[in-house]
Amino acid sequence: MPQRILLGDEAVALGAVHAGISTAYAYPGTPSTEILEYLLDHHERQGGPHAAWCANEKTAYEEALGTCFAGRRSIVCMKHVGLNVAADPFVNSALVSMHGGLVVAVADDPGMHSSQNEQDSRWYADFARVPCLEPATQQEAYDMTREAYDVSERFGVPVMLRLVTRLSHSRTNVIVGEPRGENELHKAPKADTWVLLPGNARRQWSSLVARQKDILAWSEASRWNLLNLRPGRRLGVITTGIARNYYRENARAMKDEPSHLHIGTYPIPEAQVRALAAHCDEILVLEDGYPYVERMMRGLLPQKLRIMGRMSGELPPTGELSPEIVRAALGLPALPVLDLDGMLLPNRPPQLCQGCPHGHSYSSLKEALEGMNATMVTADIGCYTLGALPPYSSIESCVCMGASIGMAKGAAEAGFENVVAVIGDGTFLHSGTASLADAAAADTPMTVLILDNQATAMTGVQDPLIASSRLQAIVLGLGVKPEHFIIVDAHPRKVHETAEVLKREILHRGLSVVIAVRECKQATRKHARIPEAVAS
Ligand code: SF4
Repeated sequence: MPQRILLGDEAVALGAVHAGISTAYAYPGTPSTEILEYLLDHHERQGGPHAAWCANEKTAYEEALGTCFAGRRSIVCMKHVGLNVAADPFVNSALVSMHGGLVVAVADDPGMHSSQNEQDSRWYADFARVPCLEPATQQEAYDMTREAYDVSERFGVPVMLRLVTRLSHSRTNVIVGEPRGENELHKAPKADTWVLLPGNARRQWSSLVARQKDILAWSEASRWNLLNLRPGRRLGVITTGIARNYYRENARAMKDEPSHLHIGTYPIPEAQVRALAAHCDEILVLEDGYPYVERMMRGLLPQKLRIMGRMSGELPPTGELSPEIVRAALGLPALPVLDLDGMLLPNRPPQLCQGCPHGHSYSSLKEALEGMNATMVTADIGCYTLGALPPYSSIESCVCMGASIGMAKGAAEAGFENVVAVIGDGTFLHSGTASLADAAAADTPMTVLILDNQATAMTGVQDPLIASSRLQAIVLGLGVKPEHFIIVDAHPRKVHETAEVLKREILHRGLSVVIAVRECKQATRKHARIPEAVAS
C-alpha cells in the first residue's frame, strides 16, 4: 500500500480527494489552514477538485452546500471560532436532506495557541444533531475523512470531522487507499426539502429527529470506538481523540492496566459507555477540549459510579492535555525531567516583522491620539492585534472577527469622543462591511482605520480576494462620505503626515474612514520569491 508522510491537516485533505470530492472551500485560520493549502497545491500540480479561499467561513460553507445540492461531494474547512461564523448554514443544513456528501473539517485549539478561546466543536455537532468523527492519529484523519462522506450520504446530513492543533500540525506516515471518482452531477428528486419554509422545515426537523436513532446505531457499531474490558479492574478509562495517545504512552507503566473505551464517533456510543460503567467502580475521562463526554456522563443527581475528569479536578479545567498531565491523573509518579535551572530563556513576546507597515500605521495613530481625551481604540484579528503590545500599545480590544467597527460605534454612541476602529483588509471583507454600513447610516462620530496590507498575513500570507481599488469602492458604496474617506501610504517616511490626517478625521464629529495601504513584507517576499532577510 502506498504511504505518504502527512500532517493531520494534509491527511484530511488527501482523504477528501480520495473520497471523490469535487470542491473544497475554506477561510484561513490556524490550525486548519493547511487543509486547503494542500488542496490548492494539489489542484495546481495535478488538477482535481476545485479549491478556493472564501470571504469568510459562512460563504465557504454555503458554497460547499451548493456542491452537495448538485449531488457532488465537498469539504469545508475552518478553525473552531470560524464555525461560529458558519453556524447559521451549518445548523440549518442538517435539515435539508443533501444527497452529495458534505464534510465540515473543524480544527479546535485547546490551549489557545493562536485563538481567542478554546471552544469545543463537538457541542456544535450535537447541537445540529449531526454525526461527528474525531481522529486520534493522522491515519485515522485520512480514513475517517473518507468514511465521513459515506456517512453523510447515508443519513443526508453534514458530518463534522473534529481535529485539534496537535493532530493538525504533527506529521507521520499515512497509508493511503485507492481514490474514488466524483459523484455524478444530479439534483435531488425532491428538491423542495431544501426550502426551509416553516411547513417544510417542520417536516424536515421531524425527519432529522427520527433519524437520530439510526445515527446513534451507526455510532454504536463504528469501528472507531474500541472497548477493552479487563476483568477485576476498579478503574475504567475513556479516551477521545489524541488523548488516547497520551493514555497509551502511560498505561504501560501501570501495574493493572484499566479497562478502556476509546470514543472516535459521536453521538456518544451509549451502550459501550454503559458496558464500561457496569464493569468498573470509577471512570477517568481523558478528552482534549471541554469535558464533553464527562458532562454527558454526569446526571443532575449523585450516582454510585465515580466519574473523574476536568469537572472533578483530576485534570486541569482548561488547556491542552499532555502525557504528563494524563500520567498524574492515572496516579503514576512523574518521570524525571531535565533540570533546566539557570538555563531558562527569557520570554520573547511576539512582534510585528521588521518594517511591517502596521507598525508605521500604529506610530501615526499614537501620535494622532496624543493629548486627546475620552479615547477608545477597538481592534480586530490579524497581525495588527500585536499593536496591543509594546512598543505600540495602541489598541484596546480584540474579541472576534469584524467586531472592531461595531464596538467602536457602540462606544461612540455611549459618549466616548475620540473613537477609532482598527481592522485589516481581509477582516473587513470577512465581517466588517455590515457594521460599517450601520456606522455610515448613522454617521457615527468615529474613525475606521483599515490596514490594507494586501494579504491575509497572519495565517500564512494568503492572497487577498479583492484588490485595494475594489475595497475602496466597497467603502464608498456602503455610504461613507467621500470627503471623509482618505487613502494614505503606510510608509515610514509618511508617519507624521498620516498622523495629521488621522487627527483631523478623529476630531470630525461624524464617520470617517482612512485606509493605510502598503503590502505586507512577507507578501512582497512571497511574490518576488526573495529570501526573508532581504524582504525585511
Ligand atoms: S506577516 Fe506581514 S502583516 Fe504580518 S507582521 Fe509580518 S509584515 Fe506585518
